[in-house]
Amino acid sequence: MYLKEIVTSGFKSFADKLQLNLDGKVTCIVGPNGSGKSNIVDAVRWVLGEQSVKSLRGDGSMTDVIFSGSKSRNPLNVASVELIFDNTDHFLNVPYTEISIKRKVYRSGENEYYLNNEKCRLKDITNLLLDSGMGKESYNIISQGEVDKILSNSSQDRRIIFEEASGILKYKKRKEEALRKLDRTHNNLDRVEDIIKELEMQIGPLKEQSEKASEYLENKKGLDQYEVALLAYDIENFHQELESKVERKKKLEEEYLTLSNDSTTVDSKTLEHSNHLRKLEEDQRKWQQELLQVTEEKEKIDSERKLLKERSKTTKEEEKIKEELRTLLEKKESLQGRKTIIIDELQTIKEKTTTLQEKTQNLEKNVESLKSKRNLLTSNYSSLDQEKIKNHNKLKELQVELEQGVDLPNSVRKVLSNHNLTGIYNTIGNVLQVEEKYVTALNTAIQTNKNYVITKDEESAKKAIRYLKDNHLGRVTFFPMSVIKERSIDYETLGILKNSPEFLGIMSDLVTYNREYDKIIKNQLGTVIVSENLDAATRLANKINRKYKIVTLEGDQVNIGGSLTGGSLYKGRSSILVKQEIEFIRKKIEANEQETKDISLQIEETNQEREHQEENLFKLSKEKVELEEKENSKNQELKEMENQLESVNSEYESLQIINQNSVSEKEKELTSKYHEKSTYKEQLESKLKNVRDEISELKQKIDHNQAEDKLLRSKLKQIEKETQEIEINISRLDVKVDAMLTTLSEEYELTFERAKKEYILDIEPEDARKKVNSYRANIKRIGMVNLDAISEYEKVNTRYIYLNNQKEDLLNAEDTLLDIMNEMDDVMKEEFKTTFEQIQVEFQKVFKELFNGGTANLRLTNPDDLLTTGVDIIASPPGKKLTTISLLSGGEKTLTAISLLFAILNVRKVPFCLFDEVEAALDEANVSQFGKYLGNYKDKTQFLIITHKKKTMEYANTLYGITMQESGVSKLVSVKLENHQDLI
Ligand code: ATP
Repeated sequence: MYLKEIVTSGFKSFADKLQLNLDGKVTCIVGPNGSGKSNIVDAVRWVLGEQSVKSLRGDGSMTDVIFSGSKSRNPLNVASVELIFDNTDHFLNVPYTEISIKRKVYRSGENEYYLNNEKCRLKDITNLLLDSGMGKESYNIISQGEVDKILSNSSQDRRIIFEEASGILKYKKRKEEALRKLDRTHNNLDRVEDIIKELEMQIGPLKEQSEKASEYLENKKGLDQYEVALLAYDIENFHQELESKVERKKKLEEEYLTLSNDSTTVDSKTLEHSNHLRKLEEDQRKWQQELLQVTEEKEKIDSERKLLKERSKTTKEEEKIKEELRTLLEKKESLQGRKTIIIDELQTIKEKTTTLQEKTQNLEKNVESLKSKRNLLTSNYSSLDQEKIKNHNKLKELQVELEQGVDLPNSVRKVLSNHNLTGIYNTIGNVLQVEEKYVTALNTAIQTNKNYVITKDEESAKKAIRYLKDNHLGRVTFFPMSVIKERSIDYETLGILKNSPEFLGIMSDLVTYNREYDKIIKNQLGTVIVSENLDAATRLANKINRKYKIVTLEGDQVNIGGSLTGGSLYKGRSSILVKQEIEFIRKKIEANEQETKDISLQIEETNQEREHQEENLFKLSKEKVELEEKENSKNQELKEMENQLESVNSEYESLQIINQNSVSEKEKELTSKYHEKSTYKEQLESKLKNVRDEISELKQKIDHNQAEDKLLRSKLKQIEKETQEIEINISRLDVKVDAMLTTLSEEYELTFERAKKEYILDIEPEDARKKVNSYRANIKRIGMVNLDAISEYEKVNTRYIYLNNQKEDLLNAEDTLLDIMNEMDDVMKEEFKTTFEQIQVEFQKVFKELFNGGTANLRLTNPDDLLTTGVDIIASPPGKKLTTISLLSGGEKTLTAISLLFAILNVRKVPFCLFDEVEAALDEANVSQFGKYLGNYKDKTQFLIITHKKKTMEYANTLYGITMQESGVSKLVSVKLENHQDLI
């Protein structure tokens, strides 16, 4: 293998394209100082991958190597160098016989590498040349003035030459890679172990939580199954019960209607009978009266007749008759007076009866209105009762909601429910009560702080924090009462506030709480001002220079400094709201209870009043009957008066007749009258008998009707009572069914039909109820659960297993890498040792040859550690004592270094060497020795030597000259061996 061609373009002083054709022998490049010879060494180094600008004699960036222009030429934008190797002997283990390596750099700083004109990475070139002895740092390229560096370098730096010669760089590189991998593996292992440790901390509590959540789900499933089945079962039963009650109510209503019709019929019949009876009694009385009168008249006529007979027998007693006539006249006048009195009395009785009738009518109206009032009250009572049941249910729900903590974070609930923690009181939100209108303002003022937990002292808070940490339960803020100080609004601001109409109060004054929390509440709410709305709040904020936070009843907020917070409110539930609602419902229930009490009292009163009125009515009817009787008796009396009057009149008349002497006619007349009256009397007696019979019959009928009516009324009362009870039952059942249907739809999103179809009660209801209770108790015992814990635990556990496998893999990889590195170390030690020993032998030999005597040696600074040992050079030119290198002359140093180079070349084949004035310090004799020695490598190593030494040129097969004719641009000239003198 040898370097066939160097092609540069735009590289340093080679502005134009330069093509340096080489053969595999010794080529010398000559030229005046500054003509650009050393730029060729730079070009070769650069193309082989040199990255150090300094090594290329630049001082800025890599673009320094681009031709920077001259007096007559503009700068260029790209530099390129290409080396073409002949690889017919396949020295480099690639299938090509010719290898081109090219590098380009653009003004922009962009670098490009090409391998056989294919774009590649620098790494590809480095790998190709690794251990070939042609790397950018190899000993085959020695720049100007650098030959002595081989000696002046530290023994450690020198070791690199031996490593390169040993061909162990590839192992070293691989080992470095392995080390990097090992490092990465360590890092990965550390990371994996860290994660595993973290997961181990999580996995325990998560497993516990997951098991708890599973237990909860199992119980919840059971609860749902039996609760829904029971709900469906109960709804159906209640529904049936409801239907039968409705049916019963309907029947009762029908029965009521029939009975009340019957009662009306009976009533009207009784009335009809009573009227008839009255008429008959009237007739009876009249006829009795008449009978009495007829009887009296008959007797009177008879006695008159007898008297007349008597008188006619005796002498006329005129005087006596006159006297009798006078008496009769007086009696007549007295009877007339008495009759007038009775007529007056009758008039009074009639008036009384009219008043009584009016009173009765009014009372009847009253009773009717009391009945409708009672009906209204009963219906009110029943709707209030329904509302009460609903409110009780709602209250229960809210209490459960409050007990379960509504909006409390899990961490807070855990702390509050842990009875092992002492001195933990409650959350701030839970100790506050507030009027309904301030609820929104309070929620705004306190926000998330409502969940801060009040503790007795710092110690209690610390213990709780430790508990949260140990169990990974999240974070909670604690307010130790012993530490927290109250805050308040300054006196001056308070004065302004009190005179402002927008000021409603200070939040801490508007809430109620146990005084022992005073400091905490004042700390949180003592500087929060409450105002009506945002407009009022901003006005107020301006007045007090925005020194304090202001919240509004609508939930907006003016912050300290004047920023505003507002918008629609979070509608989530808060314990404050729930408490408020509970309070509200409680009050409603209380009011409701009071109202139902009042109503039942009113019903009672109405009933009493009705009974009282009915009693009055009864009394009035009694009074009416009495009056009627009185009227009858007065009428009777009147009739008697009239009869008496009539008889007195008739006696008077007959006396007058007697007085006028007309007895016989009178007697006739009296006899006829007597017969007449007898006949009439008989008629009357027969009539009276009939009427008496009829009256007795009617009375019996009336008695019977009254008894029947009494029975009907008591039945109606019974029905009324039963209907009322059924109505209450119906509303209760309605509410129950309604509540159950709501539970089904809200909690389970099920219709009754679906619940009935899908949740079949396969055990006895009582057993199912026991199961539901037991599931409920279990769920209560389990407490709060995190359902996500199940999937989270699975996820974490899978990850944990996966990471443990990874850890295993990484540990295996680590072992494998260590094994590989140990193997490589062994190979490197072996190769290094062998090569070193060979070079040592060669060095002793070459040194002797080049110095014509003397001794030299190489020594390992630490032979026990072949992987790091440095290499020392010991040289003793002929006739001189073995001495340190630094004491050698410049020429001796150069020749010693050249000896070492040649010694290496003897051990290790290098395809080409590029030396830049390596022999500059040598005297002519030594240059000659150097030149001659080059001959030893004929056909083995190609030499490219930059030199000013004529003697060196003598050993060259080809000579090139570099000139700089056009100022600043290097040119290549081919030089005939005999003409080289011109270029020296
Ligand atoms: P000597 O015999 O003294 O060692 P030399 O022939 O080796 O000299 P070099 O060192 O190769 O000379 O060349 C140096 C020349 O290259 C200088 O004149 C320098 O200005 C020129 N040069 C270096 N870099 C650039 C560049 N980027 N653009 C143009 N010219 C450059």
